[in-house]
Formats: sequence, structure tokens, C-alpha cells
Amino acid sequence: MQEESPVKVIDGRKLSDLLLEEMTQEVQERMQEGYPQPGLAVVLVGEDPASTIYVRNKIRCAEKAGLFSLVKRLDASCSQQTLDDVVVELNEREDIHGILVQLPLPKHLSEERIINLIDPTKDVDGFHPVNVGLLSSGQAKLVPCTPLGCMEMLKREMGDLTGKHAVVIGRSNIVGKPMANLLLQANCTVSIVHSKTIDAAALCRQADILVAAVGVAELVDKSWVKPGAVVIDVGINATEVDGKRKLVGDVNFADVADKCRAITPVPGGVGPMTIACLIKNTLTAAKQHDI
Ligand code: NAP
Repeated sequence: MQEESPVKVIDGRKLSDLLLEEMTQEVQERMQEGYPQPGLAVVLVGEDPASTIYVRNKIRCAEKAGLFSLVKRLDASCSQQTLDDVVVELNEREDIHGILVQLPLPKHLSEERIINLIDPTKDVDGFHPVNVGLLSSGQAKLVPCTPLGCMEMLKREMGDLTGKHAVVIGRSNIVGKPMANLLLQANCTVSIVHSKTIDAAALCRQADILVAAVGVAELVDKSWVKPGAVVIDVGINATEVDGKRKLVGDVNFADVADKCRAITPVPGGVGPMTIACLIKNTLTAAKQHDI
């Protein structure tokens, strides 16, 4: 008879469905109270296959939750001015509460300029410097969706995070830094590991909570993990196994799983939570607008 594994696999799909159900209900209740339908606009430049799939999934989720949504599609060769004009128009629209410009943009367009141009109260990606500043000064309003989704999973799995040692691998503006900030605000002791860290594995072995946001397939094996840690794998890396395309995380799931208390799978972990948190942010933006 096979022994039952004590490891808990955190089901991001199930949790995101639950979040979406909660939000769908909130949207309906607010509309019954006379508030406008929250609106999300996604801007897609070009036809990158991955971006096209991400945008389709985001819109599908928004519609499922009862939001008004639209996609502005621009040609890959469009000018900076054309893109700027689209964002300015969306900033001014009363029926749009959240704006997301799908990244990456074609090389001739400035991501920094576009991030700075989005009205910070509609910045559902949480990348505008105003929202970055609000998060780091403990007044968060719109927080980047991926770290927000990771926090949701950690809180539901562990409850109060006070006093836990959290190690975040990666210091990007979209995942690593905001993740570290959120953990700090949840009273964790936080370490950030990056490509210049000396003996990253030794630091990670001290972590009660280990968040991997690196972009290196299966970098984290069991020698990086403290027994009983909760491991959140943000990585999405395309690999080939037996000639077939396969997505893997930054964590070697098979190697690590029986050493930790809980772990997120790839796919089906952080990814679905990221989209659910985009809807959450759109609702937050709509509520701020209505105050
Ligand atoms: P990024 O901007 O490339 O940042 C990667 C970070 O990892 C950098 O800070 C880098 O350090 C660090 N790093 C690289 N190699 C390392 C090593 N060997 N040891 C320790 N640190 C190392 O990537 P990102 O945008 O944060 O994304 C990270 C991963 O998450 C990617 O796989 C991405 O596809 C995935 N992702 C998933 C979602 C989702 O919804 N699930 C959302 C966003 C991103 P330096 O700063 O020193 O270069």
C-alpha cells in the first residue's frame, strides 16, 4: 500500500475560481445598489502568441466575473504617439476603471513611458511609480497582480505570517520587489536573493516561506529548501520533454515536494491567481472611483 504524501499541493485554479465567485457576487451586489459596472480595458500591441493567449484569458475571466471589458488592438508597427493616444483616451473614459497594457511591447515602444502615462487610479497592473511608492510606504492601493495572488495563497494556507522568515528569489519590479514589500508588511522577516547573491541556496534553506521568481527552469532543488517550508513557484519556463512542449516552474517540483509543507504547481498554481487578482484590482479601482 502506498503511503499518503503529507505535502499539500496548493491548487491555484480552485482558489482563483473561489476568488472569482466571491468577486462576481460583489460586482452583482454593487450594481444592484446602483454603482456602475466595473470596466477593464486591455491594450494589445502586435500579435505575439503568448500575449494573445494571456489577453484572451484575462478578458474571459473579466466577463465571467460580470465586468464590462474591451480589447484595443494595435498593429505591431504602431507609433508611440498612437499608443499614447489610446491610453489617454482610456484614462478619460468614465466606463473604464482599469487599464492594462500587455507587456512586453515591441522594441520601438517605451514601456516606461506607457506605464507612467496610465492614470494611477486605473493602473490595475500596479506598475505606475505612484502605486509602487504607495506599496512601499505601506499605503498600497493597486498592487501588482502576481505578488498579490501569491499573498492570497500564503494567507489562505498559513494564516498569520508574522515572524516567518520569507526568502524571495528575484528582484524584478513586477514580481520580486513588490512580493518582498508585501511580505514585509505582513510582518515577515524578508531576504531577497538575486543573481549576485553569494550562496543563494544557503539563504533559501533558512526560509519558512520560499518564493521563486527567477525565470530559470527548475533552479530550486531540495538542497535549497528547509523541511516544512511553504514554496511558491512563480516561474513559467517553456521546455521540451520527448519533443513535446512543457511548462515548468523555477522549482524542481518532483525533487522538492516531499520536503515541504505546501507547494504550488506549474501550471495551475500562481498563474490562475494572477488573473483573478487582475479582476480584484479592477474592482478595487472601481470602488476607489465611486468613493
Ligand atoms: P526577471 O525580470 O527576469 O527577474 C528575474 C530575477 O531573478 C532577477 O532579479 C535576477 O537577478 C534573478 N536571478 C536570475 N538568475 C538567478 C540565479 N541563478 N540565482 C538567483 N537569482 C537569479 O523575471 P520576472 O519578470 O520577475 O519573472 C520571473 C519568472 O516568473 C519568469 O519565469 C516569468 O515567466 C514568471 N512570471 C510568472 C507570472 C505568473 O503569472 N505566474 C507573472 C510574472 C512572471 P538580477 O536582478 O541580479 O538579474
